[in-house]
Amino acid sequence: MIIHIDMDAFYASVEERENPEIRGKPLIVGGHPERRGVVSAANYPARQFGIHSAMPTVQAVKRCPHLLIVHPRHGLYRKVSQQIVDIFSRYTPMIEPLSLDEAFLDCSGSEKLYGDSARIGKQIKSDISNELELTASVGIAPNKFLAKLASDYGKPDGFTVILEEQVQEFLDPQPVDRLWGIGKVGSARFRSLGIQTVRDLRLADPGIIKNLLGQDSVRIRNLASGIDDRKVIPDSDVKSISQETTFARNISNYSAIESTAIYLTESVCYRLRKAGLEGRVIKVKIRFADFHTISRSRTLEKPSHRTQTVWGNVRTLIAEELKGKSFKVRLIGVGISGFDSEQNEQVSIFDQVKQDIHSDKPSRSVDRLTDKIRNRFGRDVIQLGRSVGLKKDS
Ligand SMILES: [Mg+2]
Repeated sequence: MIIHIDMDAFYASVEERENPEIRGKPLIVGGHPERRGVVSAANYPARQFGIHSAMPTVQAVKRCPHLLIVHPRHGLYRKVSQQIVDIFSRYTPMIEPLSLDEAFLDCSGSEKLYGDSARIGKQIKSDISNELELTASVGIAPNKFLAKLASDYGKPDGFTVILEEQVQEFLDPQPVDRLWGIGKVGSARFRSLGIQTVRDLRLADPGIIKNLLGQDSVRIRNLASGIDDRKVIPDSDVKSISQETTFARNISNYSAIESTAIYLTESVCYRLRKAGLEGRVIKVKIRFADFHTISRSRTLEKPSHRTQTVWGNVRTLIAEELKGKSFKVRLIGVGISGFDSEQNEQVSIFDQVKQDIHSDKPSRSVDRLTDKIRNRFGRDVIQLGRSVGLKKDS
């Protein structure tokens, strides 16, 4: 399944969040009417007046004289956008951003860890709401085309799942211009032939469709049947894989912190290996009972996805902060960034010799074995104890 996530009235919602006084009032983010500005984004109250993006601000003000006009702060939107991508990357590295506020995710590699895509989509939606105070609409469907329709379907604050067996039923009543690439002109032509809905198009004489659309007719007819083979192409800019746990109650026991951190490290390394990535920067995040949050990192000489290597560093980072101290920890997180793709890894002869001497084969084969078992039976069927491959300090 593919997940499409689209923030609701993104720029406008960020501005409302930043400034409680304007919340809920009709507002746009855009250029000044006297300087021939246009609307970049309109919040939902403004849309009630028929205001939409790309409309000249002058016209928007005519429709709603008490409209608030906020100047865009693109730096801020970019920052929030990165925070949203960071949330996505907790669940999958397969993220294809379409713009600052919209992305496709393929979570099929993460379902064993987090449950099915619907559960992951719900979780992402609630992370965005809890952590960023913004709403997103989520669509989940067997392919990109349908996932995007699904996210739009429930907007704003929507959550729509289209199962394989519901595809045709969902598509058939939609107007033909929902098919990518038909556009306004195409749909007007179809209407003149009495073809209004996807169902009409699907059942129409293929010759007529071919006359209208030429080369594109096969693709459009496929879409009308819910067929779309495009893959999610991850942005190589996806910069980190991380996972965190909030404890049900604050933890002051050092070994409980360590066991949780081992679990998180294993999950993160498993996802790295599944994505064919190796990371150089290892990060630990600790949030204390008073919400004070620190993050500490170490950089490896050589990127890795090996549980034992990563754990060695995570454990040191935690020890530096907490060992021998009294603390109350609310949340702990482990993350890896600074990716190199495995395939691009350059192994020099010197590295190979070193590897033979210090042979790390046992830990590699432990990783491989646990991955295999997890792929089949799910995340929690196996967890490394400290005695297996993870040697304890004296
Ligand atoms: Mg949007």
